[in-house]
Amino acid sequence: ALPPEVYNQAVDQADLAVSITDAKANILFANEAFTRVTGYAADEIVGKNESVLSNHTTPPELYKAMWHELSEQRPWSGKLLNRRKDGALYLAELSISPVVDAAGKTTHFLGMHRDITELH
Ligand code: FAD
Repeated sequence: ALPPEVYNQAVDQADLAVSITDAKANILFANEAFTRVTGYAADEIVGKNESVLSNHTTPPELYKAMWHELSEQRPWSGKLLNRRKDGALYLAELSISPVVDAAGKTTHFLGMHRDITELH
């Protein structure tokens, strides 16, 4: 069986920016790559909403479509223009999955993204 600490280390050290939120997108956990990509240390981003990463130029329709899929317990993937802590903008390729408990309720979300600015 996989020891829990290996699981934790694997997620912490993954090369994708990983965050886990509550059902309202408030961040509960962020891994090391999340800090590298966004500039926010885990202890300063935990408790904030994922919307702190928004550049506020993304059309609301895109977020509506995102939240529609998530509310149907389907994953969502797409590209967003994000803002780092230092103000720099980057193009994020983001995938969000609902975390569903045994009773069928969405309790959390898993977000994974990477900076694809250089690829464009
Ligand atoms: P919001 O106030 O969030 O509203 C935007 C629209 O989404 C509205 O139509 C609103 O009705 C709808 N909405 C918001 N919250 C909910 C909800 N809980 N249930 C149903 N509908 C809802 N955004 C980014 O810009 N960059 C990211 O990297 C990013 N990563 C995310 C990672 C995860 C795991 C999750 C769950 C969300 C992420 N988001 C990200 C989305 C973020 O939470 C915000 O919804 C988004 O940034 C828009 O913020 P806002 O303040 O402009 O609008």
